[in-house]
Amino acid sequence: MIMNDHRRLGRELGIFDTDPLIGSGLPYWLPAGAAVRKAVEDYVHELERRNGYQHVNSPVLGKRELYERSGHWAHYAEDMFPPMEVGGEEFVLRPSLCPHHAIIYRSRQRSHRDLPLRVAELGGMYRSELSGVLGGLTRVRAIQLNDGHVFCAPEQAAAEVSAALDLIETAHERLGIRAARYRLSLRGEGAKFVDDPGMWARSESVLRDVLKERGRPYDEERGEGAFYGPKIDIQIADPAGRESTLSTVQVDYFQPERFDLRYVGGERPVMVHRSVVGGLERLVAHLIEVHGGAFPAWMAPVQAVVLPLSDAELPAAERVLRRCVAAGLRAELAPPGRGSLGARIRAHRLVPYQLVVGPREAADEGAGGGAGGRAAVRLRDGSQAGEVPIEELAARSRPFA
Ligand SMILES: [Zn+2]
Repeated sequence: MIMNDHRRLGRELGIFDTDPLIGSGLPYWLPAGAAVRKAVEDYVHELERRNGYQHVNSPVLGKRELYERSGHWAHYAEDMFPPMEVGGEEFVLRPSLCPHHAIIYRSRQRSHRDLPLRVAELGGMYRSELSGVLGGLTRVRAIQLNDGHVFCAPEQAAAEVSAALDLIETAHERLGIRAARYRLSLRGEGAKFVDDPGMWARSESVLRDVLKERGRPYDEERGEGAFYGPKIDIQIADPAGRESTLSTVQVDYFQPERFDLRYVGGERPVMVHRSVVGGLERLVAHLIEVHGGAFPAWMAPVQAVVLPLSDAELPAAERVLRRCVAAGLRAELAPPGRGSLGARIRAHRLVPYQLVVGPREAADEGAGGGAGGRAAVRLRDGSQAGEVPIEELAARSRPFA
């Protein structure tokens, strides 16, 4: 097995686990994993907010008719869970968030000056993968998707695609992710794809023009598009070189027509589908592998560990811990009872900030009457950062400056 396989590391680090009684492809998040995931969720939410998105929430189920209308029923049914019958109606676990967002667009009257309308949601979606292909966090049946849809006028579509790519590139840089390649995923043969050559040609040319204008190399691949339109897929690779899609931007003329979306004047908007970081399961799997568990401080499950040299410094260390927690840091205490300082440092070697409280810091801390909150900070590469105020450590542990 490869060193940084997320399945091994993810279990060792307490990120996630699975249980046959819950079912395969249905991992659950342990505290360290839930902490990483929440940090990433908050970051993406804030990034979207700063870029003009409005966040919504919608249910993970919908009536079968919703998916008949969206086209999923005709083109995507084999990836969907079978319907559940309740009170004479059939409900489906949603295979995507797009139909709900189309309904949200339609729920209010829209005019040209409301556009582009950028709607985002972190929501559950479901895929009826067969058990043979499931594993770890990369192939799952329940996905928490970072999704978003921009409803815009046709002449705004190219700029919105480009803005979505900017957002993706900003997020990747912050997360420490390097794309393996960009792929323009086109229509393939067969009934899986909506049969409307003119529509495909229009949406392909928008995506192709944007890619060319940005000057980044990309490959075109037939048969990898969504059923309703072409996609720009940003591919990542695992340590074994296996590729998967993380982020995506799509131009869609199909669903606006299916849901009869309009803005005042009777014009039909375009739907730009985009996911900045994809499903959180696959994203965190990739982050585990990229960082080998040594996550950037802002997303680390534990950002600071407080290490009293001996029992004499324990009360001062507890005060430092409380200050860390109050300052917003995810922090814990490693008391002397858990072994020598060296052993405790090794046990916390992935923690970005290791706060050693010796007699000098304890005396300072006492003298500061609880207001100073200083500690001798050791970084996980073994270097010493000297005495850093806890507020400053907390500031360094945020994804935005
Ligand atoms: Zn969508």
